[in-house]
Amino acid sequence: MKIQAVHAYALRHALPEAEVFGSSKGWHAVRQALLVEIVTDDGLSGFGEAYGPPAVNRTLVDELYAPRLVGRDPLEHAVIWEDLYNTFRDYGRKGWPIAAISAVDIALWDLKGKALGQPVSKLLGGAFRTQIRAYATGLYRHRVEDNARALAREAEAYAAEGFGAMKMKVGFGLDEDLRNVRAVRQTIGAERLLAMDANHAYDAGQAIRLARKVEDCDLAWFEEPVVPEDLDGYCQVKAAARMPIAGGETEFTRWGFRDLCVRRAVDILQPDICGCGGFTEAWRIAALASASGLTVFPHVWGTAVGLFASLQLAAALPPNPPAMLPTELLFELDRTPNPLRDQLALNPPKRAGDRIDLPTGPGLGLEIDRRLLERYRA
Ligand code: CA
Repeated sequence: MKIQAVHAYALRHALPEAEVFGSSKGWHAVRQALLVEIVTDDGLSGFGEAYGPPAVNRTLVDELYAPRLVGRDPLEHAVIWEDLYNTFRDYGRKGWPIAAISAVDIALWDLKGKALGQPVSKLLGGAFRTQIRAYATGLYRHRVEDNARALAREAEAYAAEGFGAMKMKVGFGLDEDLRNVRAVRQTIGAERLLAMDANHAYDAGQAIRLARKVEDCDLAWFEEPVVPEDLDGYCQVKAAARMPIAGGETEFTRWGFRDLCVRRAVDILQPDICGCGGFTEAWRIAALASASGLTVFPHVWGTAVGLFASLQLAAALPPNPPAMLPTELLFELDRTPNPLRDQLALNPPKRAGDRIDLPTGPGLGLEIDRRLLERYRA
């Protein structure tokens, strides 16, 4: 089996005005991604996704990676990973180049699963769970006067849908954050898990002030309190806050995650399979986390390709720490508007309340709707 062709699809969907939502980074008005399809000479096809705006990733795949892939054996995912990384490492050890490798790597694992007739979770060693507990990622900033009230209503809807855990955005000023977190906690009651995510809107001092202000709201974690470059800041917040600290969605490769682990800068590591280097690298990062005693809750954001790939990875991550009733892995289920996530799969994952069934088909388990690749092509 040899790689015959590599196709890059830049997908883009502008949200209607009423669906635009905000984080501390700004308003989100576009959903976009780069998908990579790798086709073999015996007619198999595998899909992968790269995290981030697609224009640069498309160029990387078309101009630099595809010529190195055609003619190779797609089952040699680790050999190919090293080749792509080592060839271009001098120009990109984080960010886009690694996200583009991630897309290639995920497509290779999808292909491998299809060639062997097995889901990727089985290729990784087997599923520790065939139903995955999801938390709702939503509770972004609304374009209304009273965000606390709008967030409370949204949280109520997630609770009614059966979510026992959810994550909300902060990073809009300490007073506003406190008002919003209190409103959501009051609405969902004490039993449900609530996490907050600042998308690195604060420096360490302000993040610590926020953590102290919301202490009585029993938060499951505080995500990205400070910028990803500031590991000292992470450590400072972690030492001062009385809640677990999470981060890693914008970190890349085993080398980037090694520093987070060695410094114990977080309690919960959040690699994104579409950014950190694909299955090949996420699996190494999971081993680093295990050796460091850290929890891994994958970051998930993107299209159905990223969703299915993340489900395969999440199923195969061992419980940490092992116990008769281990702390359950929590899977990030993005609830913000995104047709690329909701419509691209002909076989969307089955969900009852907050339990998602692990897709059982070969590879990622995803049957992609090719008509949509054309409809949303940028
Ligand atoms: Ca986040």
